[in-house]
Amino acid sequence: MNKNKIWLSSPHMGGNELTYINEAFQANWIAPLGPNVSGFEDSIKTYLQTKNYGPLEVAALSSGTAAIHLALILLGVKPGDEVLCQSMTFAATANPIKYLGATPVFIDSEKDTLNLCPEQLEIAIKDRILKGKKPKAIIAVHLYGMPYKVNQIEAISKKYEIPVIEDSAEALGSTFKEQKCGTFGDFSILSFNGNKIITTSGGGALITKNKEHKDKAVFLATQARDEAPHYQHSQIGYNYRLSNISAGIGRGQMEVLDNRVAARRDMFQFYVNLFSPYKGIHVFAEPNEDYFSNHWLTVITIDEKVAGVSREELRKCLEKENIESRPLWKPMHLQPVFESDPYYGNGIAEDMFENGLCLPSGSNLSDNDRDRIREVIINCLKK
Ligand SMILES: *Cc1c(COP(=O)(O)O)cnc(C)c1O
Repeated sequence: MNKNKIWLSSPHMGGNELTYINEAFQANWIAPLGPNVSGFEDSIKTYLQTKNYGPLEVAALSSGTAAIHLALILLGVKPGDEVLCQSMTFAATANPIKYLGATPVFIDSEKDTLNLCPEQLEIAIKDRILKGKKPKAIIAVHLYGMPYKVNQIEAISKKYEIPVIEDSAEALGSTFKEQKCGTFGDFSILSFNGNKIITTSGGGALITKNKEHKDKAVFLATQARDEAPHYQHSQIGYNYRLSNISAGIGRGQMEVLDNRVAARRDMFQFYVNLFSPYKGIHVFAEPNEDYFSNHWLTVITIDEKVAGVSREELRKCLEKENIESRPLWKPMHLQPVFESDPYYGNGIAEDMFENGLCLPSGSNLSDNDRDRIREVIINCLKK
């Protein structure tokens, strides 16, 4: 039997990536600027702008983390400020708050989408204002590709006049009410890290609603050089632009994005069918037709008492057969590094962290891989 490692999510090239990279080599555009960078930005913009939601500008950057950092700077976040942030997420969502000397205020998830809980968010906003400080921004995440409760989060953002940074790192290709994720926040971010739905090996993008914000982001991402023949700086800058080589990979990947979304959704359907005869195992799905997830990762929750097997038992069964699976993101308020930061919640994120499991979901899994996964899971659930 073939025991090659089956990954949760691995890079899947489309074919044209090397063409764009070769063009870069031939023109000697081996730099963090060039035709692939602008070509990649244009293709993202065209992809997101399927309807007229208003203007959109895209800045290609070295990572999604860099994009969040720049969004916070553009929103004027300063040392001592507070930023509301979904607790159940990857640390990259919250780390840039700390880069700026600001304080994250962590918020629990709700059960329908696993994302920012509108009730807890509002409780937190009221309490922070009462304590004397109105938070500067809200960071909301479309975790595992599932859109957050866009309407409710936007309503709260409007009511309290606190802007939203939409962390769409895992949700390129997802939609809410037919509008693409990555177009909802005052600022939005994407990631093209190696494990995401498409990749540039490493990279990200900041999406803004106007040209001035994009220009400011690119200025800061290229060491904040003032207009002058020599190198002149009146602000601290960063080295955050995407390279023209990486952007070449991105252009090739954009051509196959819809196909990758279809393949991930097909993996999700595979798990729905696989688990349907079993009680106590719930495959996490869209709450209603407004939501369309790219199903970047398929997530299950296991009720050990009903299923007869715990999350850890199932994870170990898969691990023994060289199949990767993982608990959900450990909530930030439980992380040693964020221990002393405020948290508002009801135990949902903790519960998901205890009982949830992410399953192999790559767009490049073969029929043979599926057979191996099916067999291990069926045998494990038999015990
Ligand atoms: C991957 C990821 C990021 C960060 O993106 P990088 O490109 O790896 O810096 C941010 N938020 C979430 C939710 C992510 O999954």
